[in-house]
Amino acid sequence: RAKELGGRRVEVFAAHMHADVVRRLELAADLQRALLEDQFVIEYQPVVDLATSRVTAVEALVRWCQGGEFVPPEQFLGPAEDTGLIVPLSEWILREACREVAVWRASAWEIGLSLNLSARQIMAPRFVETVESALVESGLPPSALTLEVIEEMLVEDAEQTITRLSELRTLGVRLAIDDFGTGYASLALLRQLPVDMIKIDPSFVSGLGCDETLTLLTRTIVRLGHDLGLIVVAEGIERPEQLELLREMGCTRGQGFLVARPMAARGVDSLMRTSLSSLGTHA
Ligand code: C2E
Ligand code: MG
Ligand code: MG
Ligand code: MG
Repeated sequence: RAKELGGRRVEVFAAHMHADVVRRLELAADLQRALLEDQFVIEYQPVVDLATSRVTAVEALVRWCQGGEFVPPEQFLGPAEDTGLIVPLSEWILREACREVAVWRASAWEIGLSLNLSARQIMAPRFVETVESALVESGLPPSALTLEVIEEMLVEDAEQTITRLSELRTLGVRLAIDDFGTGYASLALLRQLPVDMIKIDPSFVSGLGCDETLTLLTRTIVRLGHDLGLIVVAEGIERPEQLELLREMGCTRGQGFLVARPMAARGVDSLMRTSLSSLGTHA
């Protein structure tokens, strides 16, 4: 009887596993097709200088437009990473975003581009050469490109990753640590790495003005970043009091729905045009 029950349990378990495997294979096939059929689009979220409110950069955020609906990156980046599809997908994002930002720079003012890197992408053979060729082909100066990594990437395979990032840095591109404060990277790592920027995670910013500890931690991160000579970007600014506090703390840059939502390339185009005509000082 126990055996029978156990057997059934194994069967149920196997059925679950089977369904899971099938789902993953289907997703992998869908992703492959999506890449071939140009179903991926890039949205850009403006990053502003908090002292001047001027747009200094845009962060490229990938979207999968499946049957007229946006699938959020959290749902397909993991599977894309597991199947290796992240490598060609990321290369497309890199080339496309460099090209678009180079055009905006030529027609308006000299904004920068931030790109999120994936662990597998960094380790792909010839990744450094790929970045170099994307820069040359687009005409985007290396100093205008910031590559964002999350702390986890610096902890796993730390040595290899740091070597790769250092190679990238010699191209003249900038490096940022994304979601700063949520991972397990030690502060010592910050000194080992040729990092230019830290991006404070929204989980800190969300508590600004309403949570004493989070406010204190944010202030501490801003000061730490400045003491290390880094650009400090606050992410996830949604409320005016958060913006005010960050300004008062001397945080360098900000990003969030209050400032601007991620938008299609067309949106950046018109944003840059309206900012140009209303302020007149950016050209
Ligand atoms: P991230 O790099 O930290 O990007 C910021 C995320 O916060 C974006 O989500 C953005 O839409 C969202 N966000 C911006 N302002 C606000 C705000 O005020 N409030 C809230 N609640 N959210 C805000 P998204 O686009 O869904 O991207 C999620 C993550 O997926 C990104 O986090 C990044 O880690 C990853 N990702 C996105 N695009 C790419 C890509 O092209 N390549 C790779 N490797 N990863 C990407
Ligand atoms: Mg990012
Ligand atoms: Mg982030
Ligand atoms: Mg994130």
